[in-house]
Amino acid sequence: MQNISLSELHKQIRMHLECLKVSGIEWLENNSTSLTSAPLIPEQLPLASMAVAQNVVVTSPAPVMPALHSLEKKMLLLQQLKDEVASCVKCSQLAQTRKNTVFGTGKIEPDICFVGEAPGITEDEKGIPFVGEDGLLLDKILKACGLSRDEVYFLNIISCKPPDKRLPLLTEISNCRGFLEKQLALVKPKVICCLGSCAAENLLDTKIPTNKLRGKFYDWKGIQVLCTYHPLYLIRNPEKKKEVWEDMKFLISHLGRSLPTP
Ligand code: SF4
Repeated sequence: MQNISLSELHKQIRMHLECLKVSGIEWLENNSTSLTSAPLIPEQLPLASMAVAQNVVVTSPAPVMPALHSLEKKMLLLQQLKDEVASCVKCSQLAQTRKNTVFGTGKIEPDICFVGEAPGITEDEKGIPFVGEDGLLLDKILKACGLSRDEVYFLNIISCKPPDKRLPLLTEISNCRGFLEKQLALVKPKVICCLGSCAAENLLDTKIPTNKLRGKFYDWKGIQVLCTYHPLYLIRNPEKKKEVWEDMKFLISHLGRSLPTP
């Protein structure tokens, strides 16, 4: 059996339980064993065996094994990638000045993944993307579309805050590209929504400005991409909100969803 540390074991058990939660299982009956004294669980055991190994009873409903297994594996791979990002020092200046790395967050296999530019001050402090004033505006846009934060995924082109509010450098974008691509491949959204020119230019490898990219879908490795303005740009240019709303209505309709009734 593979050697495994206690902290790694706790992490894996936590992730297994998260997977059960995602699959609709809201509680587990613990017959006799607490999580801290649970026996070792081989990573590849099916969930039914895992439940037996922990001496816990999965009450209802029964998990759909193939989908759950794939989701569980993706969560583990995303956690491994997040750990890798957390210790990354490829961009020496960013690694020295950041407080936290900011990995993507949200739903795996969502309808929409929003891709922004780089973490700002609040994101750097909290280690979570889109939680500053741009995030508050994005929350309002999501609400108007009938979406909540946990139905979508958020990430940035780079995972560390550049100092002095400067734009990410091309070398930093290139250094972080592997993390971005691996994350998008695992999250596998139906549509990527690029927020602002930095995201669009670098993901689509184009110099066409956002105002000209808007209004049609592009392809990135088999995933459809729509471009609109960044919420921070909207804060400085509120007259552009109308155009973003048009883009969001286009996106929601393309996904076959309906806008909430006022
Ligand atoms: S921006 Fe990306 S590549 Fe650069 S140090 Fe941060 S995690 Fe590493």
